[in-house]
Amino acid sequence: MRAESVRGMRDVLPDESQLWRRLEREIHRTCGLYAYREIRPPLVELAELFARGVGEGTDIVHKEMYVFPDRKGLQLALRPEATASVVRAYIEHGLHSRGDLAKLYYLGPMFRYEKPQRGRQRQFHQYGVEALGSLDPALDAEVIDLAAELVSSLGLSRERLTMRLNSIGCSADRPVYRAALAAYLREHLEDLCTDCRRRVGENPMRVLDCKRPGCREVAATAPHSAHHLCKDCAQHYGEVKAYLDTLGLAFHEDYTLVRGLDYYTRTVFELCSAELGAQDALLGGGRYDDLVELLGGSSTPAVGFAGGLERLVLLVKEREGTESEEELDVCLLPVGDDPRVRGATVKILRELRSSGRSADMEYMDRSLRKAMQVAARRAQWAVVLGSTELDQGQATVRHLASGRESRLPLESLASAEGWPR
Ligand SMILES: [Zn+2]
Ligand SMILES: [Zn+2]
Repeated sequence: MRAESVRGMRDVLPDESQLWRRLEREIHRTCGLYAYREIRPPLVELAELFARGVGEGTDIVHKEMYVFPDRKGLQLALRPEATASVVRAYIEHGLHSRGDLAKLYYLGPMFRYEKPQRGRQRQFHQYGVEALGSLDPALDAEVIDLAAELVSSLGLSRERLTMRLNSIGCSADRPVYRAALAAYLREHLEDLCTDCRRRVGENPMRVLDCKRPGCREVAATAPHSAHHLCKDCAQHYGEVKAYLDTLGLAFHEDYTLVRGLDYYTRTVFELCSAELGAQDALLGGGRYDDLVELLGGSSTPAVGFAGGLERLVLLVKEREGTESEEELDVCLLPVGDDPRVRGATVKILRELRSSGRSADMEYMDRSLRKAMQVAARRAQWAVVLGSTELDQGQATVRHLASGRESRLPLESLASAEGWPR
């Protein structure tokens, strides 16, 4: 057998995982600032959950989902997204009963059988927030604000971010709009791709999502969902925009934005970065006021978004380059054949670690000169230990960047004052 990972399943190696951890920390921190609490749903769910929640006819469920029977023949799926799982957990655990609003966020791997490309793998990682239990337009604005705050906290300039916004109305508005859109699209059938011609009959809003130039041209002059809203939805949309103005969040209304998933209602949005190319969204989301009921709960309005970690990693890496190796506090360099020396080294190593200093020792039997060079790349301090040092009960601690040295007692090296800087 060859030592090779499965196509689309990528290792994150130590040099890069440092950056991942930083982004993850920032996600936890920002979500905490906005009073969202972490939920960790399992990676495996009943396949039916996504068929119902995400939509039977979507590419995600239809073509990209990993589905497999367990040993009893139950159809399971590796989660292709997390919103359906969060909603399932919300219903199952009665999270609504602990307060009216459940504000949750998640972070973790998702799986889709797509063509792997830069920044897009079959195992990929998403972060997202879900606020379940309120229709308040201020909550839509909060979720959008959180998204923008998160991305800018990673150092991506706000000026280069574009917020696309639209409202696609409630379940009562959809058939009206769908009919108007389908009628328009039927007049332009010959300009649409074959997929889209089929979509006109099945789900015409998908045509607006198509990336093919011909379809985009037709979409550009299509009827606007925001012009087919009922009174309540129109007012809701107006208030969302007013709150975004209050928050100083720039957005532009994009009537072709409908998002690829079936469950969205009312507000939909996407945050794009100029650094990624125009069509690549960093994150996207919106309202899904009917999903909780669709999955067996009571009627509960909700809003959220999800974004891909891989894209953030790419962006931050392009801006900052890969970071250097993680810095270690101390490297111990035992010298000579005295068996007492290695024993003492192992003991001091333990004491340093207990005291909270990260420490390692030379295991590769390199010459002192070579070992010192390696230590200089990895650690802040090096400590050379030989028979002489043991006999004197003192060792020389060297600050590797400055070259400054101090003699410190071996007995209390870990807690000793006066480490050179
Ligand atoms: Zn409506
Ligand atoms: Zn098309």
